[in-house]
Amino acid sequence: MHVIALSSWRKCFILSVSLIMVVCSIFAQSSADSLARAKRNKEMGERAAVTEIYIPVPPVVTPGKTDAEPPSDALILFDGKNLDLWRAEGPDSTKAAGWKVHDNIVTVDKKAKGIMTRQRFQDYQMHLEFRIPENIAGSGQARGNSGVFLACISDSGSDVGYELQILDNYNNTTYVNGQVGSIYKQGVPLVNPSRKPGEWQNYEIVWQAPRFKADGTLNSPGQVTVFLNGVLVQNDYHLIGGTEYIGFPHYTKHGPAPIKLQAHGDASEPISFRNIWLRPL
Ligand code: MG
Repeated sequence: MHVIALSSWRKCFILSVSLIMVVCSIFAQSSADSLARAKRNKEMGERAAVTEIYIPVPPVVTPGKTDAEPPSDALILFDGKNLDLWRAEGPDSTKAAGWKVHDNIVTVDKKAKGIMTRQRFQDYQMHLEFRIPENIAGSGQARGNSGVFLACISDSGSDVGYELQILDNYNNTTYVNGQVGSIYKQGVPLVNPSRKPGEWQNYEIVWQAPRFKADGTLNSPGQVTVFLNGVLVQNDYHLIGGTEYIGFPHYTKHGPAPIKLQAHGDASEPISFRNIWLRPL
C-alpha cells in the first residue's frame, strides 16, 4: 500500500515540476517577445520622428460660428455698417465710396461707378456674398453684371487688372469665359453652380498675385482658386495676364494693389453685396 502511495506522489511531483517548467518557458518566451516588440516599436518611432515637424506651431485662429462668418484673424472689409475701408473708383483717391449701404447690405450704384479698397493687398483668402435682384432683366452680359477685381492695377480705378466675373447665369447664357465664375475672357469655370436671382450666393477666393522681376518681366503668374456657392469653379488657375475686354491678355509689372468691385454699365437692376472679409496670406 505504502509503495503504491509513494509511486503516485512521485508521479504527481514530476508532473507538477514539468508543468512549472513549461509555464516558465512560455513566460520567458513571452517576455522575450515583448522586449523584441518594444525594441522594434522604439526603432520605428525613431525612424518616424525623422520626418515629423513640431515648430513653428501654426497660430491658433478662432473660426466663425458658420463658415461664412469671419475668423478671428480676418480683416472685415464690409460688415453691413459702412464703406469706410472703400473709396470711389477714379483718380481722386480721397473720394468716398458712393454705393448705398442699407439693411446690412450694400447695393451697387452704377452712376457712382465702382468701389475700391483703400488698402492694397497681394496674396489673400477672401469671402464675399452677392445677390442678383429677383426682378433682374436683360440677357447675356447685360444681366446682373459686376465683378471682383482681384487686383485693380490702375490707380485711376478703371477695369485694369484681374476680374473674377459676377453675372446672372441662372438660365442665362453668354460666352463661357465671361460667365459667373470665370476669370474674365480667360479661365472658363469648371461648372455653373448659380443660384436663382434673389438668393444670396458666395465666393471663396484664394488669390496669389503675380510677381515680377526687376526688369518688369514676369517671375510667376497670378494664381487663383475659387469656390462659388461651395463648388469649385477655378482650381489653381494660372492667369496669362490682365483680363482684357478687347485684345489678348498680357502682364504689366505692378505691386500690391486695391481690390475693386465693379459697377458695370449695363441697364439691368444693380446687384448687392454683404459679408466681405479677407485674410492676407
Ligand atoms: Mg463684370
